[in-house]
Amino acid sequence: MSLTHAAPRGANGHARVRIERGSADAGFDYLIVGAGFAGSVLAERLASQLDARVLVVEKRPHIGGNAYDRHDDAGLLVHPYGPHIFHTNSADVFEYLSQFTEWRPYQHRVLASVDGQLVPVPINLDTVNRLYGLSLTALELEGFFEKMAEKRERIATSEDVVVAKVGRDLYNKLFRGYTRKQWGLDPSELDASVTARVPTRLNRDDRYFTDTYQAMPLHGYTRMFERMLAHPNIKVMLNTDYREIARLVPWKHMVYTGPVDAFFDCKYGKLPYRSLQFQHVTLAQERFQPVGTVNYPNDYAYTRITEFKHLTGQQHQLTSIVYEYPRAEGDPYYPVPRPENTTLYKKYEAEAESLDNVTFVGRLATYKYYNMDQVVAQALTAFKRLRERYQAMGAEAALEAGSAALAAPLHSRAPAPMRTQ
Ligand code: FAD
Ligand code: UDP
Repeated sequence: MSLTHAAPRGANGHARVRIERGSADAGFDYLIVGAGFAGSVLAERLASQLDARVLVVEKRPHIGGNAYDRHDDAGLLVHPYGPHIFHTNSADVFEYLSQFTEWRPYQHRVLASVDGQLVPVPINLDTVNRLYGLSLTALELEGFFEKMAEKRERIATSEDVVVAKVGRDLYNKLFRGYTRKQWGLDPSELDASVTARVPTRLNRDDRYFTDTYQAMPLHGYTRMFERMLAHPNIKVMLNTDYREIARLVPWKHMVYTGPVDAFFDCKYGKLPYRSLQFQHVTLAQERFQPVGTVNYPNDYAYTRITEFKHLTGQQHQLTSIVYEYPRAEGDPYYPVPRPENTTLYKKYEAEAESLDNVTFVGRLATYKYYNMDQVVAQALTAFKRLRERYQAMGAEAALEAGSAALAAPLHSRAPAPMRTQ
């Protein structure tokens, strides 16, 4: 909307101010559902590179998705949805995000509470020596693992991965209990990819990740998201489920980053997601634990405790920690990687691919156990595909093509979204 300059004069001779109506094509080119990494990267790219008009709709009261951070009542920077540590081997992803934040180098370390001691995770030389009261050298460690390991013809499950590498005893001490708590399933019921996230080390390296780039956004994730979404072509609508506005606001192409089964009204059945309950506690002491995260594989109902000051480097007289209690019900946080879920997801994926004017991106929308950097990479790739389509067909035609063949599930619930002319 803009005020006209050459305003006509009224009967009394006073200049009348006329408010122009939005022009016929003032709708949005893209409706983006979700303001997490997937939605925010795409909003930023589409607005800044294609000059597209973008509406981001987010049902929560904040941007950032599960990576959202905020200062708690004591002024400590915390991650309300659990600890988020940034790490990547992708120079492209790191450089892309570096446009929106400076970084604080941070290498995450994790200890596990086992048999009354705190030992490094991933398993390394010190883990073995401490748990077994040995003084093996790095050269001897490989032989030790070979003696302990169980032969496996095929590595299919999360149990196979660990027992084939380090044997059943270390598996029982560090993986079995944690995994059963975290997933509500035995490791033998989960894809190998789950426990394969945690490697085994033959040296004394006690870092949780060994990626080339390991750093935290200097002023937090939320600040980084604010800067990504600050483009004048981007409007953000919080506290709104996209279903409330998809019929009311004109748009041409949708990017959906919520759970894929929910988009299709769970027509093939609910996809399982694992949830967590977070218990945040602020303590009147400067330090609570020696490293960022301590895992509790065999004791307590929670899996791990994280102390945020290790991650953020914040100086403060108090400290804030979070306990993670796994849950079957609640907000969907983790896809559950196992064969029957992949089979069910494939049905939704086929439906999703048949929709011309909706693109599915992100951890829940593609049912992949992705880290933040993988979601950023996936969103950057999705952007390239959208840009090619935009350029190949000519901007208007590319976007209009979608509207006619509006997504079936939206069709069945509601009339097609308003056309822009
Ligand atoms: P999300 O962040 O889930 O964003 C999707 C958004 O869509 C949400 O904000 C949601 O509210 C919104 N939405 C859904 N449905 C609707 C709807 N109908 N209408 C409007 N809005 C909707 N990754 C790492 O790299 N390092 C870590 O240390 C790390 N730790 C993690 C710890 C935990 C406990 C969890 C759960 C995840 C962790 N991750 C970590 C993974 C990381 O959170 C994800 O990779 C990333 O945040 C996924 O981004 P996304 O945009 O795909 O999804
Ligand atoms: N895991 C385990 N013991 C540990 C750490 C991890 O059994 O001490 C297993 C568990 O199944 C977990 C998976 O490895 O869910 C992946 O661990 P990661 O730390 O990557 O989980 P996330 O940070 O994604 O929750």
